[in-house]
Amino acid sequence: MAYDIDMIKKVYSQMADRVNKAREVVGKPLTLSEKILYSHLWDGETSKAYERGKDYVEFAPDRIACQDATAQMALLQFMQAGKKQVAVPTTVHCDHLIQAKMGAAIDLQSANKSSSEVFDFLESVSNKYGIGFWKPGAGIIHQVVLENYAFPGGMMIGTDSHTVNAGGLGMVAIGVGGADAVDVMAGMAWELKFPKLIGVKLTGKLSGWTAAKDVILKVAGILTVKGGTGAIIEYFGEGARSMSCTGKGTICNMGAEVGATTSTFGYDDSMERYLKATNRTDVAEAANAVREHLTGDDEVYANPEQYFDELIEINLSELKPHLNGPFTPDLATPISEMAVKAKQEDWPINVDWGLIGSCTNSSYEDLTRAASIAKQAVDKKIKAKSDFGINPGSEQIRFTAERDGLLQIFEDLDATVFTNACGPCIGQWDRSDRKGDEKNTIVHSFNRNFSKRADGNPNTHAFVGSPEMVAAIAISGRLDFDPTRDKLINEDGEEVMLDEPKGIELPTKGFAVEDAGYVAPKEDGSSVEVKVAEDSERLQLLTPFEPWDGENLTGVKLLIKAFGKCTTDHISMAGPWLRYRGHLDNISNNCLIGAINAFNKKANFVKNQLNGEYDGVPAVQREYKKAGVPTIVVGDHNYGEGSSREHAAMEPRHLGVKVVLVKSFARIHETNLKKQGMLGITFANEEDYDLIQEDDTFNFVDLEDFAPDRQLTIEVVHADGSKDTIKANHTYNEPQIAWYRKGSALNLIKEQNAA
Ligand code: SF4
Repeated sequence: MAYDIDMIKKVYSQMADRVNKAREVVGKPLTLSEKILYSHLWDGETSKAYERGKDYVEFAPDRIACQDATAQMALLQFMQAGKKQVAVPTTVHCDHLIQAKMGAAIDLQSANKSSSEVFDFLESVSNKYGIGFWKPGAGIIHQVVLENYAFPGGMMIGTDSHTVNAGGLGMVAIGVGGADAVDVMAGMAWELKFPKLIGVKLTGKLSGWTAAKDVILKVAGILTVKGGTGAIIEYFGEGARSMSCTGKGTICNMGAEVGATTSTFGYDDSMERYLKATNRTDVAEAANAVREHLTGDDEVYANPEQYFDELIEINLSELKPHLNGPFTPDLATPISEMAVKAKQEDWPINVDWGLIGSCTNSSYEDLTRAASIAKQAVDKKIKAKSDFGINPGSEQIRFTAERDGLLQIFEDLDATVFTNACGPCIGQWDRSDRKGDEKNTIVHSFNRNFSKRADGNPNTHAFVGSPEMVAAIAISGRLDFDPTRDKLINEDGEEVMLDEPKGIELPTKGFAVEDAGYVAPKEDGSSVEVKVAEDSERLQLLTPFEPWDGENLTGVKLLIKAFGKCTTDHISMAGPWLRYRGHLDNISNNCLIGAINAFNKKANFVKNQLNGEYDGVPAVQREYKKAGVPTIVVGDHNYGEGSSREHAAMEPRHLGVKVVLVKSFARIHETNLKKQGMLGITFANEEDYDLIQEDDTFNFVDLEDFAPDRQLTIEVVHADGSKDTIKANHTYNEPQIAWYRKGSALNLIKEQNAA
């Protein structure tokens, strides 16, 4: 599986010097998060103390992980960088494109058929550029990363928001967009706003029905879905040390649900045990040698209120099991209060499905605790009232669970064991029992429970809980069941109770697997041919964007003046369009179709100035492109907020839009526009937005002198011949202007590589 021990040893060999220097410059004891951040600065050495929540800082991550849905465009872009190999160890994981329906064997076969060209593409690109490839069925990205690649004190980025799971093994691991991953693959720095720090002090010890999952369900209730935004959550205290490494992974995983940049824990014995159990004794020994740098300074944890921006304290001995939901992961209800709450809120009481697994809760400990409940149903002659579905997180965990009889216990309850993949967690669930939009309830041990997330039904009430609680509720078939208090009636008509769950942290016989599903890349992949069919509707090789000719842009027609909120979802919708994430021309047919036209307040209905007719945005823009007419998109505040998907910048660029002029940008989208060679600028005077009319033409007066900190002047010509001259600001620095000149950041990288 080739984790890179030399790279890890190199990180550790630099750690003492870098941490000591950072402590000196910052002038106070350091949290773990700061130690990892400061020891991964792109320049190698701390020259100043960064202001949390304010300064943008360049980092050098140690690893990259990509999942199949996002890797397509990331790798298509990387192919243009002109590199022979990725600059940083990288893996690709096929997990999102596999539907759950009949069970693993049949479902995997279907996915291998329906998405074969995408999987083949990802495998061949991986082979060519030195990327480790995990084939369909190998497992879910974050579980596979935890089992194989995560290491204490490391920094990782991944093209998936739950990359943060690796914090369970003491990393700073952060979800990013594909364009960021491409930069790092190509050997460039990665930029992040220096995060704020939230400390969570855990005291006491988990017991009974309370699980690690309940810690994050509780934290989500406290912080809400936005409370962690721009912050790293750092857990510490005796309670943290008393928990398993995989339990820590669960907590970090769901840090994404409170918007946190990431979450992490200091290195401890549980991590050492996990590293050794997953055949990484050398990593554990290397970590032991720098142990003091892999956790926060003693003074920080002794007086945390002085070192964290916010502090939460949770006593694990008093923590109660929770269920969070429906429709939002921060609606936390203790199990003991669910009966009253569900009645008040009119949530459907009967539970149709209990789903266990996903990247969030697939550990050996999770499965043994849930199985200890499931086994009681058989032993005590209780017939499970709900259907069971199991999504193991990896082939290693599935194989081990099968060997140890855990899967058989679930199968005795007629559970369906789905592929080691995301399945119902990402809406890849062809649910057999309900096809309409009837109101119903499911419980699962996943992380997200937004409307439609699991099965596409907006009326499915999904509740998130620990695997053992999901098992208990699914057996009872009732949302208001509290296993600490309530009895069930068995097949003999007797009243029985479920005993508390019992788990085993790590398999006593060790983990086992026959074929983990890993495909190592060739050492020299230069002869590998990457195949993309000319007529493919899902994949398309990218053509480099045209460089700027150095002239002023003139005769630029208004494509759309977007009204109000215009997020990346408005610019490049998800849902059914996910299918085309690897085909720029096809996915460009969703370009700006969600944006509201300021002149008629309709979505996807804009005037074609060439013929005066109205049509959809992509159709009108394609007409302009065919006629060789440059266009501009005008927008309001925070244009491009939402996800970091680069498609929102690539699509308009591909279709021939030359300029995006707005009141203000969401920062990541602004950077994405710059990287793709688009001119992204802001009104110097916000009120000038109101001057823009439907038939306007724009002439740039001084773009030829494009330079940092220099405003641009634009003449706006209205249909009646009258003119306004407006000023625009920009934030391009010299290197970014070079991207613009070359047509994209990738074009520049390619040219530098060729030189
Ligand atoms: Fe994302 Fe769910 Fe897959 Fe985890 S299991 S990677 S949360 S879709």
